Amino acid sequence: MVFTALILVLLWVFQYFFLQNYYRAAKERDLALTASRLAAEAGSSDIEDLVRETAYKNAINIRVVDAMGNQLYGENNMGSFSVLAQDKFGTQQFELIGRLEASDDNTYSEIIKNKHFGNKELVLITEMGGNEKDKQYLIIEASIDPLDSTTKIIREQLFYISIILFEMAFIVTIIISRRLSKPITELTDTAKQFGQGDYEISFDAKGYAEVEELSNVLEDAKDEIKKVTDLRKELIANVSHDLRTPLTMVKAYAEMIRDLSGDNPVKREEHLKVIIDESDRLSNLVNDLLAISRIESGKMELNKQSFSIKEKLEDCMTRYQLLIEQEGYDIQYIPDDDVTVTADMEKIDQVIYNFINNAINYSGDEKVIRLVQKNKPGAVRIEVTDNGQGISKELLPKVFDRYYRGEKYKRDVVGTGLGLSICKEILKKHDFAFGVTSTEGVGSTFWFEIPVEEKKHTKRSKDKEKDKHTEAEQREQ
Ligand code: ADP
Repeated sequence: MVFTALILVLLWVFQYFFLQNYYRAAKERDLALTASRLAAEAGSSDIEDLVRETAYKNAINIRVVDAMGNQLYGENNMGSFSVLAQDKFGTQQFELIGRLEASDDNTYSEIIKNKHFGNKELVLITEMGGNEKDKQYLIIEASIDPLDSTTKIIREQLFYISIILFEMAFIVTIIISRRLSKPITELTDTAKQFGQGDYEISFDAKGYAEVEELSNVLEDAKDEIKKVTDLRKELIANVSHDLRTPLTMVKAYAEMIRDLSGDNPVKREEHLKVIIDESDRLSNLVNDLLAISRIESGKMELNKQSFSIKEKLEDCMTRYQLLIEQEGYDIQYIPDDDVTVTADMEKIDQVIYNFINNAINYSGDEKVIRLVQKNKPGAVRIEVTDNGQGISKELLPKVFDRYYRGEKYKRDVVGTGLGLSICKEILKKHDFAFGVTSTEGVGSTFWFEIPVEEKKHTKRSKDKEKDKHTEAEQREQ
C-alpha cells in the first residue's frame, strides 16, 4: 500500500508542478526546430509553399515579415485565435523584431495572450534570409492552450488510475497476507507450542509452495524429534528396568550367600555364577551406553589397520565354541578366499559380534546361524544369517534406529536397542555399505561390505573381461 501511495504521490507531483513547464519547453523546442528548418530553406523558390504546408500540418501560424513587421507571405492555420492575425498594423511583429534584436540569441520567444478569447499563444521569432539592409524575419505562433484540456483529461485518468491502483494494492495486500504472512505466523505459533514440548501440534500451513515446503520440513523435523524423544523415554524406562533387575538379583544372591549358602560350596558356586552373569549384563549395558554417548558426542575415531578377514572371522567363531557345545547352537563360518582388508579391526569385531549375538538372541528354537564371507569384485561381503522369526516389513527400516527394540522380545532378551545403531554408526564412519534382509517366519540376514584393495580383483575382473570377450567371439563364430 505504501509503495502504491508513493507511486501515486510521484505521479501527482509531476502532474501538478512539472507538466506545464515541461510541455512549454517541449513546445518551444518544437517550434525552434521548425523555425530552423524553414530558415535553412530561406531563399529557395518553393519556400512559400513550404511555409504553407508546415503551417497547415502543425495547425500553427507562420509568417515571414520584413524589418518593419509587414507580412511578406505566410499561412495562418489558427484562424481568429491567432493574436498576430488580429494585429492589423503588425505592431506586435515590429515589437518582437525589436526584442529579438535586443537579445543575444538568434531566436526569441514569449507567451502572449489573446485579449478576446483569453487563450495563450507561444510566439517564436528568428531571422530568415534577406540581406543586411532588407532583413526578413520568420515568426511562428502556436497555441499552447489545449494543454489545459489535456491536463484535465490526464488528471481525470489519474484519478481513476489512483482508485484502481489502491484497490489492486488492497487486494494484493490481502492475498499476500493470506498466502504468505498468515501461514508463516501460524507456523511460528505452532513452532512456539512445539518448543514448549507439545508434540500433538501439526505443521500444515497452506499457501505458497515455499511455505508448504517449510511446513512439511518442520513436520518431518517434529516427527523425528518426537521419535527420538519417545525412544529416549522408552530407553530410560528400559535401561532402568534392565539395571534394576540384575541389581536386585545381585543383591538377593549376595544376601543368600551371606545368610544361607555361604558354607555350602555347591550352592555358593551356583549363586556366585548368577551374580557374575548379572554383573556381565550390567557391564554390557553400561558399555553400550558409553559407546552410544561417545558416538553422539562425535568422539568416535577409527584406528584403521590391515588384517586378514578370514583370520578375523575364524577368531570370532572361537567365542561361540561354548555356546555350540553346551547349548546346541549350530553356528558355522562359511569362508571364501582370504582377503586383506583395511578397517578398524576392533570396531568391525564389535559389529560382527553384535550381528551374531542378535542372531542368537532372536533365532528362537532354530538355533541355526551362518557367518558367511562372500568375495565380490572390489569388496568382501560379510553376512550373518539366522533362521529366527524374522522382522516384519514395517519394522525392518527401524531396526538400525537408535533405541529401537522389537516389542515381542522386550521381556525375554536383555538388550538396549542400541546394538544395531552402534553398528550403523561404525559402518557409516567406515563408509561401508550395510543392510538387512528379512522374511517373517524364515529368518534374517544382516550384512556389510568392506571394500578391498583393487590389486587382487582388478586382475580377476580383467580375466573375467577376457573370458567374456572369448565367449562372445566363440558365439560369433
Ligand atoms: P537389542 O539390544 O534390542 O538387541 P539391537 O539394536 O541390537 O538392540 O536390535 C534392535 C532390534 O532389532 C531388536 O530389539 C530386535 O527386535 C530386532 N532384531 C535385531 N536382530 C534381529 C534378528 N537377527 N532377528 C530378528 N530381529 C532382530
